[in-house]
Amino acid sequence: MYDIIVIGAGAAGMTAALYAVRAGMKTIVLEKMGIGGQITLTEAVENYPGFSFISGPDLMDKFEQHIKKFGVEVTYEEVHEVKLGDGSYIVVTDDKKYTTHAVIVATGSNPRKLGVQGEEKFIGRGVSYCAVCDGPFFKDKEVAVIGGGDAAIKESIYLTQIVKKVTIIHRRDKLRAEKILQNQAFANPKIKFVWDHVVDRVVGNETFEGITIKNVHTDEIKEMKFDGVFVYIGHIPNTKFIDVDKTSNGLIITDDCVKTSQAGIYAAGDCRDTCLRQIATCVGDGALAAYNAGEYVERVKSGYV
Ligand code: NAP
Repeated sequence: MYDIIVIGAGAAGMTAALYAVRAGMKTIVLEKMGIGGQITLTEAVENYPGFSFISGPDLMDKFEQHIKKFGVEVTYEEVHEVKLGDGSYIVVTDDKKYTTHAVIVATGSNPRKLGVQGEEKFIGRGVSYCAVCDGPFFKDKEVAVIGGGDAAIKESIYLTQIVKKVTIIHRRDKLRAEKILQNQAFANPKIKFVWDHVVDRVVGNETFEGITIKNVHTDEIKEMKFDGVFVYIGHIPNTKFIDVDKTSNGLIITDDCVKTSQAGIYAAGDCRDTCLRQIATCVGDGALAAYNAGEYVERVKSGYV
């Protein structure tokens, strides 16, 4: 029997586990893939206090070293279900069942796909969701980046260190990204913008050739040749396995203390319905989740729940 099971080992989950262990809770982290989550796909982190510049993987290495120093146990298993047991929760993975008083869901999110013809066919062969992973394949080539948020702009700036030209294609005529990133992108001679267009289709027979894009006002379609396309149009939360109240987009609804609709279940980080998704907010969520889960566990053990 665990006190707290943390699902997911990104910034939120690792912080939650650190706080839980240090509060004396018997804790385990269940992680599907690898430590670090989405941040490991980011080349440059410049807004996490204490680090004016650090790569995503390096920062997550530091988190990992930190939690391991305090004895946090991490195991690699995918969680399929969280069931209500007899006054506790049963967390069901591929081949195990864990029992716990409280659960912290910190499962983050996955990149949203365009959902257009040709996208699936060319994933990893022209279509990418990770500039850090695939950027080096496009040295001195021309690529498109889709999206207008922080990720699209930040990764476009990163790609200009490798490629010849980046064309950012955005569905509006204004960027969502923070001002400092916008200014850097506008000042970068390797970045061009195509406004008010969405991707209509990914083009190619055997090999990737480019995309067709559609003007959102006129519906006019035109073809653009690229060597690759990087898609940064947001994320879809990994929350299907958990039965708590969610938004229509699958984000877990919590109160200010990150409690979900189910007593003893907390949500932290990008899988939670919140107005800002940053490493700093994930860390804050993780601390809140562990603190409140710990209080809940103490109440359960004292017979107050
Ligand atoms: P995001 O902020 O949700 O932006 C998604 C972008 O994709 C928006 O510009 C959106 O357009 C566009 N979009 C959405 N669906 C689309 C579709 N079907 N077709 C075309 N365009 C579409 O997502 P994000 O950039 O991945 O960022 C996620 C969170 O991580 C944010 O909170 C962000 O601040 C944070 N983040 C921060 C940093 C940083 O360095 N500070 C870096 C990366 C991410 P509209 O603008 O028209 O809605």
